[in-house]
Amino acid sequence: MRIAFFGPPGAGKGTQALMLADKTKHKHISTGAMIRDAMKAKTPIGEAARTYMDEGVLVPDHLVQQLAQLAIEENQLDCFILDGFPRTLPQARWLNAFLAEHGTPLHAILSLVVPDEIIIDRLSKRRVHAETGVNYHLDFKPPPKDIDPSLIIQRPDDKPEAIRKRLAVYHQQTEPIESYFRDIGLLIEVDGVGTFDEVQHRIDVAIEKARERYYAALER
Ligand code: ADP
Ligand code: ADP
Repeated sequence: MRIAFFGPPGAGKGTQALMLADKTKHKHISTGAMIRDAMKAKTPIGEAARTYMDEGVLVPDHLVQQLAQLAIEENQLDCFILDGFPRTLPQARWLNAFLAEHGTPLHAILSLVVPDEIIIDRLSKRRVHAETGVNYHLDFKPPPKDIDPSLIIQRPDDKPEAIRKRLAVYHQQTEPIESYFRDIGLLIEVDGVGTFDEVQHRIDVAIEKARERYYAALER
């Protein structure tokens, strides 16, 4: 399957995309994680992205598209789970055109629906492992006691000022592309409020729906 997770920062895209990738053995492609890796490695893309990322604004489309294209091609375009890409209309149009060119269109965009007040709680209490990038939440998924606490950090863009900025950026630049995906019949909304397992179950149901819809369209 070729799936993309969509939704505001903190909706649980990374968490659910990883759980799904683990279960299905599909490749998890997170543009956020790729940008953070590029920043750590001080590559030209990483250096160009740094100020945008730390301030909580979107990294320019051409840089993110390069990273996404490399990761998708590396995986021979077959099965993948995109997380946090596309996030702008130009990215969405580019992705559709790129996949159509290769005859491997998306099966679905899963939109995780979570209200802003829960988003703010999730982001402000998110912590990550400095080396592995694994995500935790201070209340709902606390870091295991045997991990050196100095390795558990808060992302610079999870500080209150950057959270406010990212939510505004989401509502202005990313949310509008939902209607684009709805119009081309790819969008499936999933309630993202609930326990990790409840949300996972709703995602399984949504994927089944996407699969049926995809094969029904092929038979027509
Ligand atoms: P979150 O998990 O909170 O949604 P990500 O790790 O996906 O955050 O992204 C963190 C930051 O990386 C974004 O705020 C943005 O600066 C940059 N980024 C990630 N994906 C994209 C994208 N598709 N387009 C532009 N910028 C992106
Ligand atoms: P995104 O990738 O959309 O930014 P994450 O997957 O990083 O979101 O989740 C944001 C924070 O919320 C993390 O701290 C994560 O542990 C927590 N989280 C994710 N899903 C849930 C959930 N269903 N209930 C409570 N907390 C959650």
